[in-house]
Amino acid sequence: MAGISWHYVLKFIITGDSAVGKSSLLIRLTDQRFITNPDPTLGVEFGSKLINIEEQNKVVKLQCWDTAGTESFRSITRSYYRGAAGCLLVYDVTNRTTFTNARTWLADVREHADPHLTCILVGNKVDLCSDDSSTSASGKHREVPTEEAELWAKEEGLLFVEASAKSGQNVQEAFEKATRDILDKIQRGV
Ligand code: GDP
Repeated sequence: MAGISWHYVLKFIITGDSAVGKSSLLIRLTDQRFITNPDPTLGVEFGSKLINIEEQNKVVKLQCWDTAGTESFRSITRSYYRGAAGCLLVYDVTNRTTFTNARTWLADVREHADPHLTCILVGNKVDLCSDDSSTSASGKHREVPTEEAELWAKEEGLLFVEASAKSGQNVQEAFEKATRDILDKIQRGV
């Protein structure tokens, strides 16, 4: 689009187990919509979005790669870690296994990505948790307490947010939070 320019282009990767909502978060960020049954993630999908970080007075173009969650695609996804400035490490708050597996994904990121990469842990599907009942209408309930994830993120030096691709809650904020951190690092010359 004519007239729109940006100060930085940042590559983001979205990683985590299959079905935690990686594609849905990307679609929510770039298209502001939610699809109940998106095509299964095959390989890698791509989306781009301009965001304005007002505090730093910078417009940033995010180039986001949605990496596949299954083990069989590991060899495809690994090359996509290269050159990434930011990473969304996604788990599903209603599925403890996906949170446990986030450790493996983080190890993978640490092994292959730039050591200065900013990583934000994203607990997705918070719309399925209602605080006043243990089971939501969908039959799903929270399996990962916020405090536990927050503590682990702190220990690992990760940013943290809970979000919902379905409602849109905290989706753009997750990308913005990571972007602010990256801009801080750029300004500090890290
Ligand atoms: P991916 O394999 O990690 O890319 O996951 P998808 O984006 O394909 O999502 C897997 C399933 O979870 C789909 O049926 C989505 O509609 C659903 N889903 C994704 N995000 C959310 C969310 O925030 N809330 C709810 N309730 N469902 C979600």
